[in-house]
Amino acid sequence: MAEKIKIAQYWGAGCGGCDVALLDIDAKILDVHAIANVVFWPIGFDGKVKDLEALPDKSITVSFYNGAIRNSENEHIAKLMRRKSVIMIAFGSCACYGGTPGLANVTNRAEVFETVYKNTQSTDNPNSVMPQTHTKVKEGELELPEFYDTVKMLEDVVDVDYYMPGCPPTVNLIAMAVDAVAQHVTKGAPLPPKGAVIASDKTLCDECKRERVEKNRRIDKIYQAYEIKPDPKKCLLDQGIICIGPATRAGCGAMCPNANMPCRGCMGPTRAVTDQGASMLSAVTSLLNITDSESKISEEQIMEMMMQVKDPLGTFYAFCLPKSPLKRAVTEKKKKWKG
Ligand code: SF4
Ligand code: SF4
Ligand code: SF4
Repeated sequence: MAEKIKIAQYWGAGCGGCDVALLDIDAKILDVHAIANVVFWPIGFDGKVKDLEALPDKSITVSFYNGAIRNSENEHIAKLMRRKSVIMIAFGSCACYGGTPGLANVTNRAEVFETVYKNTQSTDNPNSVMPQTHTKVKEGELELPEFYDTVKMLEDVVDVDYYMPGCPPTVNLIAMAVDAVAQHVTKGAPLPPKGAVIASDKTLCDECKRERVEKNRRIDKIYQAYEIKPDPKKCLLDQGIICIGPATRAGCGAMCPNANMPCRGCMGPTRAVTDQGASMLSAVTSLLNITDSESKISEEQIMEMMMQVKDPLGTFYAFCLPKSPLKRAVTEKKKKWKG
């Protein structure tokens, strides 16, 4: 039997769901076992950084990195894995686009620490002690990773070969990737071109079965998903619920609309879209019931309509703020304003 390939998995700034997703592939895990040995997976078994450091460069065939880059440890491991691996896959939306941790890019480290270590109700910190990267104790010096101001994507710190979006990636997409690697290893089948996104190139609306209004699409009011009971057959956007499907890459099987919930955009932007949030914002504004005869509608009225979107950032940029041209809110000016 041919020698098994080596795979590794690491959890950066994320929720752990991507690690669980890898186990969710059920019997497919046997295909993984047949061709691969897992050499580093801290959440799966007791792996240490020194185990990874001890491996020869390029000795890991495929590394799956999930989570965003939030601190110096995440970046260090990402760089180490890159050095040790032939193929590096950004696994999940946090690694691909910054994901939900990326929403913290509207603020900075000082403000995050201020909230977490001082201003939460459950915090008892009378001396305002904040995390330090180095602390001397009688036993020696303790070291913590440096917490960054800005949440980054994996590609901001290392060269990425493939992207597998989703929060977490679906079982089908993981199985597709496992098959591609297995075919490559056992039969020499070619891998997808470098930089490929392991998902569909279509939009989510293309794989959604809900009926859409084809002409003169208009909405009068924007609703939160819990405010109305939507018609299960009709497009949620046509019913006034913001569904990010038009600006989102297909590949999940339209899971959320199938469950009567709007898409939040976790598969990230399609190839044709640079800024998922701006693209969706523009789609929504074009749907608002402003006809030619009402072209004299005031700015206040437009603002009133848009104010119906309760959480614009979380609605339009839930998974992709670090990937967007915005990347983060300006911090320099904020600092100046604060003097
Ligand atoms: S992509 Fe989603 S499931 Fe994966 S680590 Fe990020 S938040 Fe968790
Ligand atoms: S907007 Fe949402 S509900 Fe409507 S077709 Fe697209 S994915 Fe389906
Ligand atoms: S429907 Fe949207 S939010 Fe739901 S899994 Fe698919 S891409 Fe993600």
